[in-house]
Amino acid sequence: MRRRKQKSIAIKTVTYVVLILLLFLLIVFIVSRFDKPPASEGQTTLITPTHSLVSRGSTEGTTLADGSEDVLIITTTAEVTEGTDELADNEWALFLVNNQNGLPADYDSTIEDDIGLTLVFSDYRDYYFDSRAAPYLTKMLEDSSEDGVNLYIVSTYRTQKYQQTNLDNSVTERMNLGMDYDTAYADALESVALPGHSEHNAGLAADIMTPSYTSMADDGFKNTDEYKWLSENARKYGFILRYPEGKQDVTGIIYEPWHYRFVGVYHATKIAESGLTLEEYFEENGWADDDGKATKHLGPLEETVNSPAATLPPDMITVTVNTGSGEAIPVE
Ligand SMILES: [Zn+2]
Repeated sequence: MRRRKQKSIAIKTVTYVVLILLLFLLIVFIVSRFDKPPASEGQTTLITPTHSLVSRGSTEGTTLADGSEDVLIITTTAEVTEGTDELADNEWALFLVNNQNGLPADYDSTIEDDIGLTLVFSDYRDYYFDSRAAPYLTKMLEDSSEDGVNLYIVSTYRTQKYQQTNLDNSVTERMNLGMDYDTAYADALESVALPGHSEHNAGLAADIMTPSYTSMADDGFKNTDEYKWLSENARKYGFILRYPEGKQDVTGIIYEPWHYRFVGVYHATKIAESGLTLEEYFEENGWADDDGKATKHLGPLEETVNSPAATLPPDMITVTVNTGSGEAIPVE
């Protein structure tokens, strides 16, 4: 009897242990479900300007997520031209923005007041794009979704002021790791552009990833189905992979599988097929001098883009304390 009683207690104990273990696993499972980044599939919303992919109308006093500024959003009419072989296709978009070629200091107001910005994507933040190119980005997002690919916007238009904050934070992070100021500044510039020298300041660059992979700390995004889709299809919507692998000596920026630049379908197709970077494309066409300074830009921006850039020497950069707000690593 005693042995049977002992056996019964042992069975009860084992049962309790198993139950507690199951309860623990259940809690871990539930917590892990809630611990996912806000970018989970169900919470992603694609914003379409209109059903016909033509953006119209205006929205006043919209707050830009990245600049925290009230701006007047004026959207202009633009239509998607797919697969065009016309040289004139969106040639206004073909200008060079890099360390050697900056935007005019007042380009923020040009794009916000004259050109207009269009909301292209929204989740817990709103993302805006040059209104003339926005329909192409929207269409790319829609078509990729139909192909079962889940593209997710991480960054689009950034004000030059915001770009400065990005750079400041990036320098500070490196100094916190023990680098001296000059080293930290030089290192930061390999992944963050000076204000006015980022394509994001022109409203023509989009950092595109996927909800299950949003890390910019490495180039792992290149192993996703979404990257594969972009590699095959981005050109059809006028976008190029702007900072390809092994081209840092040409672009000045590390390999960024997530950064796509709108240049129009015609030039995007030519650039993608040639394997050239935008810098090399300019050089090959005789639109840049030996120092990489553009001598010609296509479209109406030709005159303004080459005006003195908002280049700040290192000692004018104000290093600010990173508040640790959980902002993504600032990269191009
Ligand atoms: Zn970028």
